[in-house]
Amino acid sequence: MRWTYSCPKCQAMLNPDDTIILVASRDDTRHLIAFHPEPGNYEIHIPPGAEMKEGTKWDFLCPVCQADLRTEKDSNLCSVCLQDGATHSKVLFSRVAGEQMTFVAADDDPS
Ligand SMILES: [Zn+2]
Repeated sequence: MRWTYSCPKCQAMLNPDDTIILVASRDDTRHLIAFHPEPGNYEIHIPPGAEMKEGTKWDFLCPVCQADLRTEKDSNLCSVCLQDGATHSKVLFSRVAGEQMTFVAADDDPS
């Protein structure tokens, strides 16, 4: 496996399988969402019967420690840690469903 994603809070690995697993939460709704591990690939899998309407804003949580993955700098973005070989970085993504905006940032924050 080339990419390893982890929770910035508890360091749990988020892609034990081929996909990144996160909890998406909105109002009383919670879904387990599977993301494609390749940055820029917007394929996501949501559970049968679940719905994430385009334009709706979600909280994304670590499935292990339930930490809110929102970034401090921009509350519209969430981030997870990415390790690609020896390179550590952060992957930021939008909280808005259907907004295809993912980018990789250098990990300048060792915390
Ligand atoms: Zn966690």
